[in-house]
Amino acid sequence: MKVLKFGGTSVGSPERMHRVAELVTQSSEPKIVVLSAVSGTTNTLVQIGKALQLKQVDEANRLTTDLKEHYNSFCLGLLAEKSARKESKAILESHFEILSAIIQNPFSADAEKEILAQGELLSTKLFTAYLKSQGMPAVLLPALEFMRIDANQEPDEAFTQERLKALLDQYSDTKLFITQGYICLNSQNQIDNLQRGGSDYTASLIGAAVKAEEIQIWTDIDGMHNNDPRIVKRTFRIDRLSFDEAAELAYFGAKILHPFTIRPAQRANIPVRLLNTMDAQAPGTLISDHQEDRPITAVAAKDGITAIKIKSSRMLLAYGFLRKVFEVFEKYKTSIDLITTSEVGISLTIDDQQYLSDILQELETYGQVEVDSNHTIVCVVGNMPFQKVGVLKKIVDAIDDIPIRMLSYGGSRFNISLLIDNQYKVETLNRLNEHIFTFPNQ
Ligand code: ASP
Ligand code: MG
Repeated sequence: MKVLKFGGTSVGSPERMHRVAELVTQSSEPKIVVLSAVSGTTNTLVQIGKALQLKQVDEANRLTTDLKEHYNSFCLGLLAEKSARKESKAILESHFEILSAIIQNPFSADAEKEILAQGELLSTKLFTAYLKSQGMPAVLLPALEFMRIDANQEPDEAFTQERLKALLDQYSDTKLFITQGYICLNSQNQIDNLQRGGSDYTASLIGAAVKAEEIQIWTDIDGMHNNDPRIVKRTFRIDRLSFDEAAELAYFGAKILHPFTIRPAQRANIPVRLLNTMDAQAPGTLISDHQEDRPITAVAAKDGITAIKIKSSRMLLAYGFLRKVFEVFEKYKTSIDLITTSEVGISLTIDDQQYLSDILQELETYGQVEVDSNHTIVCVVGNMPFQKVGVLKKIVDAIDDIPIRMLSYGGSRFNISLLIDNQYKVETLNRLNEHIFTFPNQ
């Protein structure tokens, strides 16, 4: 079994959806196809939720009507046959009725999640209808029957494994399954989701649950690049990445993969392949347990970082100080990305500022606190055990006139992270690009 996930742009137009159908029916090996919502849909659903929250019911209705219009013409392009068009009309009716009904009621967080779920429900149903109209039967597996998160928002992998197996066992002759990315139930059995971009995560959770031979993430670029192609001109595709490298890159800003995608795949040791819908023959990027002997593989950057420094002479020769500081973050369920310490101070970074003022207030009881917002973590990933000298020098030399607020080295042999003010990001990524990589074929 292979799991193939197609992102929003890969199903973003009728022609693209036709292309996906071609790709998934080319071979008869068993597949589970995970789809995102048609591109733009989730953003619009987010806007509908926001309008409702602000009690702008007219605006919510207007957005819904426009979205329905969009889907009406989408279906005209997608389906030619009369009965298929009729079926698609019924699909649109039922989901837009759900939306309209939700909009008539007051806003709640549960209502918002139900709104957000409509995108993946629509894309998978329309895609399955198209396959059927082409005489390519597929079974639609409702993700809400096997994807669940627990009270801590963590996927319930045992549940997925058990439920998915039971479902697949019902269709032992079927080779092609379609399902929704992103959506799931929560511990209260209500509709929820795996956060924006979460369809990749769905694919990898499914892959691990069915012990797939491979998880394929199909997007509209040719694989993971050594640097951010939106910011740096001359980037190159990376052929192979280890799970550790890929996890660091996804977490620290490589937009091609949802940050948690690698975890389930790595645990189950299932290779993940990043492929391009527009150039299906291209090799893409293969992510596996194989680690290349290459000191520097790629750079990624994550914005919106806040640095917090706590200085206290009480820390001098004291034990238990760090625990107290970390407990504050634990209390507010705020995760820390980078940490550096000295004998009298500690600097750390967070990206979730929801509880920042509470956190700061509590930290002030332990010492003097300084905060710098609008920072960026630049993460250099590769295979760089400390015995391999010179890597750090190469990085720092490349940006020797850029102020580095923090430097984290030695936490893992796969990562060196720097914290800089966001204003230096473009310069930093470009300089690193020119100085620390060996470009292929040069
Ligand atoms: N449709 C969702 C989003 O736009 C999930 C995904 O595409 O992965 O965030
Ligand atoms: Mg995505």
